[in-house]
Amino acid sequence: MSHCAAEPPLTETASAEICRDREWLERYSRQLLLPAVGGRGQRLLHQATVAVGGCGTSGTPLALYLAGAGVGRLLLMDSGAQANHLASAIQDLNPLVQTVVLPPPASWQEAAILLPDCQVAIAADGQATLRQQLNRAAIAAGCLLLAGWQTPSAAVLAASSAGLHPAAPCLHCCEQILLHQSREAAAPPPVMQMTHGLIGSILAMETIAILLNKPCQLFAHCYLFHPEQSNYQLLPVSKWSHCPVCASDARVGSLS
Ligand SMILES: [Zn+2]
Repeated sequence: MSHCAAEPPLTETASAEICRDREWLERYSRQLLLPAVGGRGQRLLHQATVAVGGCGTSGTPLALYLAGAGVGRLLLMDSGAQANHLASAIQDLNPLVQTVVLPPPASWQEAAILLPDCQVAIAADGQATLRQQLNRAAIAAGCLLLAGWQTPSAAVLAASSAGLHPAAPCLHCCEQILLHQSREAAAPPPVMQMTHGLIGSILAMETIAILLNKPCQLFAHCYLFHPEQSNYQLLPVSKWSHCPVCASDARVGSLS
């Protein structure tokens, strides 16, 4: 960019920094004006690393929203070409975002090795195995966890801070609460299909709120959206004393 060419007194490094700062200010000018974000918030987003588990119909809009907002580094966990396509779309959308494409972890221990650098991990695409792996891994790595998935009748969103707070419920505790919910008739598949985007966009909003140190209701609740009735429930979630993942005796056994 010629207008950024170094003036004689400037070193090449200083000139490159000015170019980067200008690009940063131009790209995020609207967000920088928002009282809820501002310069400090934008830097928090830029310094953050978020792991996105699953790059399908929920993980893709989620990652694109995070990249657009300026989350600095995204770990995209998925197999095949899907994660590579998403990484390429993110580079087109916001070249200031660094993406790392990773295959899905083979075990929770493998996932735990990846998470210590992350502020938030997200099980985005409803795969139960990956959700369970990330639940254990987030506790081991001391990382916050968000998840979105579908039941036959509802879209579900939940979060766990058990990785930072031993008294907090984990995702497995949340799933136990759902087991005791009354069974409703399954929604037609086309209706449920439309909730994928909803899951991705709510996960993105909650992630950004967490990174900006704003309150996240999901840590004490589970959100259920019923598309057939077009209504939602916010269920309180408490720690399950016999949880095989996060109860104090289980933590010692499973995380050692
Ligand atoms: Zn638990």
